[in-house]
Amino acid sequence: MNINSNFEKMVPNYLFADVARKTNEFAKAHPEKEIIRLGIGDVTLPLSDVVVDAMKKGCEDLRFKESFKGYPEYEGYDFVRQAVSEYYKTFGVKIDHGEIFISDGAKSDCGNIGDICSANNTVLIPDPVYPVYVDANIMSGRNIIYAPSSKENDFLAMPDRNIKADIIYICSPNNPTGAAYNFAQLKAWVDYALENNAVILYDAAYEAFIQDDDLPRSIFAIDGARECAIELCSLSKTAGFTGVRCGYTVIPKELSRGGHRLHDLWYRRQATKFNGVSWAVQCGAAAVFSEEGQKQCLENIHYYRKNAKIISDMLDELDIYYTGGKNSPYIWFECLDDMDSWKFFDYLLENAGVVGTPGAGFGQCGKNYFRMTSFNSHEKTLEAVQRIKNLLER
Ligand code: PLP
Repeated sequence: MNINSNFEKMVPNYLFADVARKTNEFAKAHPEKEIIRLGIGDVTLPLSDVVVDAMKKGCEDLRFKESFKGYPEYEGYDFVRQAVSEYYKTFGVKIDHGEIFISDGAKSDCGNIGDICSANNTVLIPDPVYPVYVDANIMSGRNIIYAPSSKENDFLAMPDRNIKADIIYICSPNNPTGAAYNFAQLKAWVDYALENNAVILYDAAYEAFIQDDDLPRSIFAIDGARECAIELCSLSKTAGFTGVRCGYTVIPKELSRGGHRLHDLWYRRQATKFNGVSWAVQCGAAAVFSEEGQKQCLENIHYYRKNAKIISDMLDELDIYYTGGKNSPYIWFECLDDMDSWKFFDYLLENAGVVGTPGAGFGQCGKNYFRMTSFNSHEKTLEAVQRIKNLLER
């Protein structure tokens, strides 16, 4: 056979492998030094009790003939879709449960959604960005253009009327920058998409971290979005499901292109290539959206928020420019003395024993920036911040 030659166009991304290699080499050379990892991109707190109990009950159901479950519905069980629909109501967004597809996580859907789009589309992707959008579209042979973001636009790229795109990825709050669009800014993107007959793929994986009332939790809080947007969401960071695997994608029934409802195309795609999320996991997912589930999940989010504040307070004190931290688990800051992000990585590791993630790994626009996350423990975050302050205070 011939391979998909688009793979030859992919640029290898060794970001996390290089971070791990450099960190291990340093640890070997300096066994006496304790390294603190503030680059962690995974959650560290365990699942909530209410979620584990629901999953255990779900497993018990599988023990008996009367309650056993086989193949799930492709689009998820109704009670879970209903629970997600009710969740949207809590921040004032009306989504019918029939518009919700339960998935095994946002990463798969971010990549797979391309199955319903022609390879001829031009894709607009912000820079810096979660690398999956770029790689998935290179694999499919689509033309990619970038929307650069920087200090000048507070890492929130805005539409450029001179550029014509058919598919637009937006991630808000963003990974890696933590920056989040407000209502007016998102409305500008929705207007641009409508003018261009484009579709926005809106990644809301970090919506649960939003605290400010002037920031939308969903693109469907914006007028017109139902005619031009698909929302992808995840329980990974909201509820600690990085290992359990569950998310959801919302496709409004009125969203059509080329005479087809995208909802129907996606259903067809999922029915062909996806056999659904397991019963026990969906039981756990529904528990996330129960009153007690929300209370327990929010406790974990508060814990991470406290860590994010410790890091952003330090940057305020040191007068270093940053985005994120308040409505996101990510803090994105400018490297000192014009250092590039890998140089800064080495500097911080060698002089403070602290590991972060070089911004260069997320795109050209990240080459002088650095990402830290709030996923380490409170104690370790405090200790890391003290070490960085000692190093950078002049
Ligand atoms: N979208 C963004 C922006 C992410 O940062 C991540 C995970 O890091 C994902 C999606 C993946 O989510 P999931 O674990 O549900 O696949």
